[in-house]
Amino acid sequence: MTRCRLCGSSALGSVVDLGATPPCESFLAADQLDRPEPAYPLHLRVCTDCWLAQIPPLIKPEETFTEYAYFSSFSTSWVEHARTFVADAVERTGLGPDAFVVEVASNDGYLLKHVVDRGIRCLGIEPSVNVGAAARDAGVPTLTEFLSPETGAAVRAANGPADLVVANNVYAHIPDVVGFTEGLRALVADDGWVSIEVQHLLTLIEENQYDTIYHEHFQYYTVASAIRALASGGLALVDVELLPTHGGSIRLWARPAEVAGEPSQRVVDVLDREKAAGLQELSGYTEFSARVAKVRRDLLKFLVTAAEDGKTVVGYGAPGKGNTLLNHCGIRPDLLAYTVDRNPYKHGRFTPGTRIPILPPEQIGIDKPDYVLVLPWNLRAELVEQLAYVHEWGGRLVFPIPELSIVEVKR
Ligand SMILES: [Zn+2]
Repeated sequence: MTRCRLCGSSALGSVVDLGATPPCESFLAADQLDRPEPAYPLHLRVCTDCWLAQIPPLIKPEETFTEYAYFSSFSTSWVEHARTFVADAVERTGLGPDAFVVEVASNDGYLLKHVVDRGIRCLGIEPSVNVGAAARDAGVPTLTEFLSPETGAAVRAANGPADLVVANNVYAHIPDVVGFTEGLRALVADDGWVSIEVQHLLTLIEENQYDTIYHEHFQYYTVASAIRALASGGLALVDVELLPTHGGSIRLWARPAEVAGEPSQRVVDVLDREKAAGLQELSGYTEFSARVAKVRRDLLKFLVTAAEDGKTVVGYGAPGKGNTLLNHCGIRPDLLAYTVDRNPYKHGRFTPGTRIPILPPEQIGIDKPDYVLVLPWNLRAELVEQLAYVHEWGGRLVFPIPELSIVEVKR
């Protein structure tokens, strides 16, 4: 990667090199274990001109998202998050009965169905054929497309401009950030609103959340770099909210630059925090690399000691991000016998690269391991409650991030 995909600069500094890993959602079936498995360099760099952090775009979104296994409606807390968002958005932007709302990467309609319920006209734009079909079945009009300037213009020509364009958890997933932003501008009315949720690089760095770096996330935003990205399509940031989702996200409220006016005090405050954290100089990023190396050393030290002491350790969860951690640390079944997951699709499969078997969650109660390594650390509060039963046999929970912690759970 020689040039920044946002500003074209060649001033790219290394943030952290996580080695080579397979795409994190490529779980292997048993008959794939004797076949070659492609791995791609996972090296995060930051542009010292516009401060967009980015990895090389080695896999194509078309390969990942055309047939996608993730249905947002499966997550109760996510559906509730969407309901609250729609209520807030209606109030903030004053959407009336004549309004038109577009959501990009609308998944199975988990969010737009709340817009449909309010009698507001809407359209989802979703690239995954199977997920988009589920949305249409649920009564949410959905177009099967990736967003580009051309798609945006065609939707506007056919339906009129959108009063609100929503793009949640997609702004990191598109390698052509400029074309995508131009697509948002093509969709939105000249006095309309754009709302974007994306992971916040500030919390990623501060909380050592390096396992959220993976091939499907092409870039990582501070508010400062998001302002630059929005400007590439003629949008300007008006307000920002800090959210706890994915370990720390930002919700950006943007409008066409001509009508945006001055950004809110909250924007100014978050920009100040990012600057104070050193994220507008290369040194603020390079210290992160040393902290990532410590997460790896601490986790390996724990696993090796447990193995030598004859203790059993199994995993909980097989989220995509778990695979960055497992591959970067080089953890194989000799150190982590298996992991469990609630998604039946993953049962009987193996984690990409590290080839750790994935079993149903009941296996933990059968084997009564000494330690359970929790891979979705972002659900810590919820999982400490859900997994309290390991206390019955004196088992303990282990969280690798933000730093290694061993938790004795009590009823
Ligand atoms: Zn740049």
